[in-house]
Amino acid sequence: MENRGDHSHLQQRKKRRLVLFPQPLQGHINPMLQLASILYHKAGFSITIIHTNFNSPNSSSYPHFSFRSIPDGLSETEASTADLIAFSVLLNVKCVVPFQDCLAELLGGGGDDDDVACLITDANWYFTQAVADSLKLPRIVLCPTSICFFNTVAAPPMQEFYFNVHTDFQFETPVLEIQTRDPENINRFIKNIVKQTKASSGIIWNSFQELEELALTNLKQEFPIPHFLIGPFHKYFPASSSSLLAQDQTSISWLDKQPPKSVIYVSFGSLIGVNETEFQEIAWGLANSKLPFLWVVRPGLVQGTEWLEPLPKNFLEMIDGRGHIVKWAPQQEVLDHSSVGAFWTHCGWNSTLESICEGVPMICGQPCFGDQLVNARYVSDVWRFGLHLEKKLERGEIERAIRRVIREAEGQKMRERIMILKDKMDICLTRGGSSYQSLESLTNYIMSF
Ligand code: UDP
Repeated sequence: MENRGDHSHLQQRKKRRLVLFPQPLQGHINPMLQLASILYHKAGFSITIIHTNFNSPNSSSYPHFSFRSIPDGLSETEASTADLIAFSVLLNVKCVVPFQDCLAELLGGGGDDDDVACLITDANWYFTQAVADSLKLPRIVLCPTSICFFNTVAAPPMQEFYFNVHTDFQFETPVLEIQTRDPENINRFIKNIVKQTKASSGIIWNSFQELEELALTNLKQEFPIPHFLIGPFHKYFPASSSSLLAQDQTSISWLDKQPPKSVIYVSFGSLIGVNETEFQEIAWGLANSKLPFLWVVRPGLVQGTEWLEPLPKNFLEMIDGRGHIVKWAPQQEVLDHSSVGAFWTHCGWNSTLESICEGVPMICGQPCFGDQLVNARYVSDVWRFGLHLEKKLERGEIERAIRRVIREAEGQKMRERIMILKDKMDICLTRGGSSYQSLESLTNYIMSF
């Protein structure tokens, strides 16, 4: 995307500062820092990032931003994402005072010179609306999920503890249960997010109009506030540098040696885990497919283990170089690699978008909470560029799914469908495209505060 506005206009915008507050999880830090870069480089705003000391971003990758750390007050046992909802709710309590103090200091001119135009926080930071109101500062929400997902939970009638996936397309699906240790807690959590997002001055989506237009139309009826679809964020700049873990570059050198569109890339994101049996079924399914695979096994993916101990005996010898296992991959580069034929994903929204952007068909399976369930349903049944592994993980199912997507005509059709969307996405970021225009509207909107 090109720079817009003359130089003096950008200089003038530089004098307006935006304060951004990411939720401290990889899938939330990435889009918030990408958004910060877009608003800095493309719209000319100055940027301050407030962050917790848990999972603090690497400030040295962003020398042009100002970073403010607040104490989150988490004890060693509380600093765990094992129960994500409990963790997020706790942070919404513990961060109130330190966040308020930090923001008040910034507004009082303590530190950065420029005039603060508004606050941009992750939707999951619902407590920040009251803080923004008390300081008379507009708050814009960054929703790092799909609109389709938000629509299912936020548009009435929301059923207690259930996502009712009605789509604008040809099917009515059964309800999908959210798995959580405490269903009342998740219900309260979602209600708080919905209420405080409604009270905000607008929503920024990491999505593009051509992908989610119908869901957006529906959502707008319930949320008559400005919506800005300026995504996909990661396509504005080369691969992101907000990874909390080191990305293993051998992923790319290994891919370089594989035939075109032959590799299944497997990653379940930064949070979810599998049990030992599931892990072994995955390993056998990959091995039995006889196709090359690049598999991200995060340390701790299988609870209670260090890394690869639960692999079947002699697994690595058996696959004899046909598979490559890493702890963390440069995912965007991997998906952009010509050897990758499919992405087996948990359907986190960042992963889903990254796959769409590179035209890589998907296998959706074991998505386990939040938007992953809804995203998987859309990928397989609405957009139809992926397969949904709905049953429990079983080696025969896995092997068949991989072969269907990479080798069979069905997979070829999926690739054609996703390529059509990829082409639309490419256009939306160019001058006059939907995301381009939406970024202009967002910039003007912020300048009007
Ligand atoms: N990611 C990565 N390397 C990996 C796996 C994932 O850099 O090996 C990145 C991926 O590109 C995405 C993010 O981590 O931007 C995961 O976000 P997502 O919303 O897909 O899932 P979550 O981690 O929130 O469950």
